[in-house]
Parts: sequence; structure tokens; C-alpha cells
Amino acid sequence: MKLISKLPTVGTSVFTTMSALALEHKAINLGQGFPDFPMSETLIDQVCQAMREQHNQYAPMAGWLPLREAIADKIAYLYQTHVDPVTDITITPGGTYALYNTFTTILQPGDEVIVFEPAYDSYIPGIELNGAKAIRIPLVHPQYHIDWQRVKESCTAKTRAILINTPHNPSGAVLSEQDIASLRDLVEGTDIIIISDEVYEHLIFDGRTHCSMLRYPDLLARSFVCFSFGKVYNCTGWKLGYVVAPSSLMTAFRKIHQFNCFSCHTPMQVALASFLQHRDAYLTLGSSMQERRDAFIALMKPTRFDLLPSYGSYFILATYDRITQEGDKEFAMRLTREAGVTPIPVSAFYTDGTDHKVLRFCFAKKHETLAAAATRLQAV
Ligand code: PMP
Ligand code: GLN
Repeated sequence: MKLISKLPTVGTSVFTTMSALALEHKAINLGQGFPDFPMSETLIDQVCQAMREQHNQYAPMAGWLPLREAIADKIAYLYQTHVDPVTDITITPGGTYALYNTFTTILQPGDEVIVFEPAYDSYIPGIELNGAKAIRIPLVHPQYHIDWQRVKESCTAKTRAILINTPHNPSGAVLSEQDIASLRDLVEGTDIIIISDEVYEHLIFDGRTHCSMLRYPDLLARSFVCFSFGKVYNCTGWKLGYVVAPSSLMTAFRKIHQFNCFSCHTPMQVALASFLQHRDAYLTLGSSMQERRDAFIALMKPTRFDLLPSYGSYFILATYDRITQEGDKEFAMRLTREAGVTPIPVSAFYTDGTDHKVLRFCFAKKHETLAAAATRLQAV
């Protein structure tokens, strides 16, 4: 059977490749971003309870209403913004889907979307599969900040959307109020839609404020804001998330969503509706992840890797010019095979393979995992 690929230049994702290599070589996997510590037993019990109470049939298309109400409460509490749970929130099978369904909702062939690289791997294929063009703008290395002048110069009559991600994967950079002012300046008086990937909403460190689009009513009025429960409750395998958008945009989103997925896993939604009442579970997430980041930084001190600052997310970047001049892919594979530790090469987040010789390590791990990895890396 012959197929013409819609993604002719794309191979297997770097996360699949590196996780398979880690498994093959029994390496400690600090590549793909997922916690290796257990999620909440209470939340697991609540899912089981929901199943036993026979919440096992289709949920409403937009999501279990008590869950959407709990999310609206959380948004009011965290961001002092009122969003209507009936019209402005849709539960999705994960953050990746939320982004993809947004692309399908808003993009017409020939449209352009501003995307910053290094970019999470699903963005550009998702845009291209919907017939649009990604206008790639590099974040300024090594701080990975946005050059807003360059963004301005890259906007055309075809610019349909700008895609932002804060805290940022893979760099751990976060947007500041100054970035928000520049974003506002850029979109004001245009029809540009903001797609905001905020799956690391709570994973922000050192007392920084998460500049969510949910904070700014004028920006929210033109935004699709995407979240993932996997990142909030240490259950990336659940693949459950949600999108917040004003009702005019959300109506269009649901028109597609109803045929793409219809509705998400019911027992998990029922459980999350009550678990979301425990504010501490998400309020303490940033500080506990910050402790893991700090532990990893301390453990890596004796190595010849140089860590760049990480202000949020699961990730920290490392340069390695004191060790080798190898390209990052080659070195990431060699580390897996020879040192028994798997990172992600950051060049994989650039369409043209730009290689600043930087590796991404995931520190969302148990202390003993981080310690064992650092011990192995000391020998490199
Ligand atoms: N966006 C970013 C930046 C991510 O790192 C991830 C990681 N999984 C996602 C979206 C997707 O989230 P989900 O697993 O819920 O699809
Ligand atoms: N978001 C995770 C990462 O960046 C993993 C995503 C995936 O495996 N597709 O590592």
C-alpha cells in the first residue's frame, strides 16, 4: 500500500527515540519529560470511586460541568478573572490535542503562525498539517528571550496567530511583564490570535509570577490558553487537559472538537472536579519542583557540564564545551550508551537543526534518580 505522507520530512519524535535508546542501554532517562515519583493516592482513589459509582459513560462534549466549574473557580482565585465554565472552558485529551484542535479551528491554507524556536515538537507539524505556514523565530540564545523587534518585522497580512509558551520547554525561560507589554503592542489593532501553551503554569520558580493570558482581559479576548492536568498532578500518562478561550472562539473550537474526540475520560474528570478543591496540591507544586531543580544544580556542580538558568518547567539546559565539541545529538546518544544517562539534544527543537551544543535534562525525578545520574555524569 502506498501512502503520500503529509509530513514527508518528519521522522520519529525525539522523545520516542531517546526513551527507546535509554531503555535499550538501561540508562537513567532524564530525557522525556515525566516525573518518576508517584502521583497522589487520593486522586487515584477518587478515580476508582468515580468508576465504582458508574461514571463510566460519555461525559458532555465540552467536559464534565463540575470540573469546568472547579477550573473557573481556580482561575478566579489565581488570576482574578471570571471565565464562564459553560461557554469558555473545554476539557481535552491533553495539552497537545488542545493545541492541535486550536490550529484546526483557526487556520486556513496560507495562513502564517509565529512560532519561537526551540519549539515543543508538536507545534510546527500541527500548523503544517492544517495547511498553514510556521514563521520560525529563534529565541535569543543563551537566555532564550524573545526579540520583539524581529517578531514585529515578521508579521504580515497573513499572520493569523502567535504561539507563546511560558514557562518554556525546553529552556525553562519565562515571559515577563515587559514581554506581555510587547505582545500587547504587537497584537493591538490586528486580528492576530494568541495561542498560549501554559502547561507548566505552576512550575515556576524563585518567586516569579506566571504571566498567564488569563490575567489580561484584553489579551484573553483573543486567546486560546492550553493546559495539561498531566503536569499539575504528576500523571503525564493521563493525557487530559483543557482550553480556555472567549465564547466566540470556543464555539468554533467545539465545532471541531465534537468530531475529533467528542468527549474525554469521564471518571478522571469526576475525580479531578473534587480534587481541584485541594488548592495546596497545585500551590505547592512550584516550590517542590524548585527543590528538585536546586538539588540537581548542586549535584551537577562537580561535573564538567555548565547549567543555564531555569526559571520554570521540568527542564534545565546544559552546555558542555569543557567536555567535547561533538554535536548535541551525537553527544546525547553517546552519553546514553557510554555514561548511562539520557538527555534530549536541544537541536531537535529547531526545524533546521540549529545546534548551540546544548542538552536538556528533566529534573522532575526522585532525589535518588538525580543523584545516580549526576554520579554517572561526573565521570564524563
Ligand atoms: N506543551 C508543552 C510545552 C509540553 O512540554 C507538553 C508536554 N507534554 C505538552 C504541551 C503536552 O501536554 P500533554 O501531555 O497533556 O499533551
Ligand atoms: N512534554 C514532554 C517533553 O517535552 C514529553 C512529550 C512527549 O513525549 N511527546 O519531554
